[in-house]
Amino acid sequence: MKDTIIIGGGLSGLALADRLDRAGRDWLLLEARDRVGGRIAGLSYGGTSFDLGPAWFWPGQPRIAALAERFCITVFEQYASGATCYENTDGSVQRVDAPSAMAGSLRLAGGMRALVEGLIADLDPSRLRLETPVIALSREGDGITVTAQEGETLLAKRVVIAVPPRIAAGITFDPPLPDNALRALSTIPTWMGAVAKFVAVYERPFWRETGLSGDAMSRHGPMVEIHDASAMGGTPGALFGFLGVPVEHRATLRDQLADACLAQFGRLFGKAALTPVATHLADWAREPFTATDADHQPLAAHPAYGPPPALSGLWDGHLKFVVTETAPEHGGFTEGALAAAFSYDSSAAI
Ligand SMILES: Cc1cc2nc3c(=O)[nH]c(=O)nc-3n(C[C@H](O)[C@H](O)[C@H](O)COP(=O)(O)OP(=O)(O)OC[C@H]3O[C@@H](n4cnc5c(N)ncnc54)[C@H](O)[C@@H]3O)c2cc1C
Repeated sequence: MKDTIIIGGGLSGLALADRLDRAGRDWLLLEARDRVGGRIAGLSYGGTSFDLGPAWFWPGQPRIAALAERFCITVFEQYASGATCYENTDGSVQRVDAPSAMAGSLRLAGGMRALVEGLIADLDPSRLRLETPVIALSREGDGITVTAQEGETLLAKRVVIAVPPRIAAGITFDPPLPDNALRALSTIPTWMGAVAKFVAVYERPFWRETGLSGDAMSRHGPMVEIHDASAMGGTPGALFGFLGVPVEHRATLRDQLADACLAQFGRLFGKAALTPVATHLADWAREPFTATDADHQPLAAHPAYGPPPALSGLWDGHLKFVVTETAPEHGGFTEGALAAAFSYDSSAAI
């Protein structure tokens, strides 16, 4: 019997594995996808990773800063010099000397993937099981039986669920969780679960040469908010944008959407934007291990996340939830994923 099984290898699950490992505990992590990192993902080009998920953290988020320092990852400021472009409903573009909306935001050299790479480099790979989606948990005596999709079962004293709450609501619990716990799981929205992000990489950040910051706002679309995503130092250059197209239309328009995004970069930043060296459209709403149908409606504001009382003390404290949406602070953010992992009482693993 394992001491602790962690379900989910996003930042919170990996940070918890790191904590348990450093405390000399016996743990095993089960990850549904064929990669770890969860919402942290990147488009690789030229030896760097261009963020398809989170890109920024901010002053006042000490856990990310400390982890970057531990892994010797250089922190740099979001490029913010120059004018912002505004695209009107008819596709016409105005250049305005407005400060970049993301000025002061911080990024990591090598992208957020560098944090994930740093964490897994210190962990025994045989304890990180990929392509192992957990579908059921059942409590029997002193142990919890964890059943994976392929039918494999594993036994643990404790289970920590490090997956978005609405995804966790799809796991079968035996005995069933109390109604208020199930309600809490299914009503907590997945942060950024409705979002799609388009990234285009270029040999150099040519827009900077004409005094543009790479920031743009659009009422024409398909992207509504655009920023510079270049590697540290500017080369390779990159731009990214958040799409404003509803989830249900994105599925049917997928190929046309990537072309339309590129055409939009062309309208905003000129002809050079039409010849990227790499592109990727990441639709997080269509990722079954991130978002559910209930997440398809974009959120009007950042939810007031926090540890729901209904999720504490389950199965005599042997079943816990550790994910950014249940974090004691910075819920929703990468800093929240770390706050959730750091708030886990590791003495419970003795
Ligand atoms: C497009 C986008 C932009 C973002 N921008 C920012 C930003 O700039 N700054 C910021 O701070 N935050 C941002 N975020 C939020 C940030 O990504 C999250 O806070 C953070 O990555 C959450 O990590 P997590 O480990 O808590 O959850 P997740 O990353 O969701 O990890 C959960 C893991 O569980 C796995 N899993 C799911 N179901 C199962 C199962 N049944 N069995 C086994 N494994 C399972 C998943 O595959 C995944 O690996 C952004 C998110 C997105 C999508």
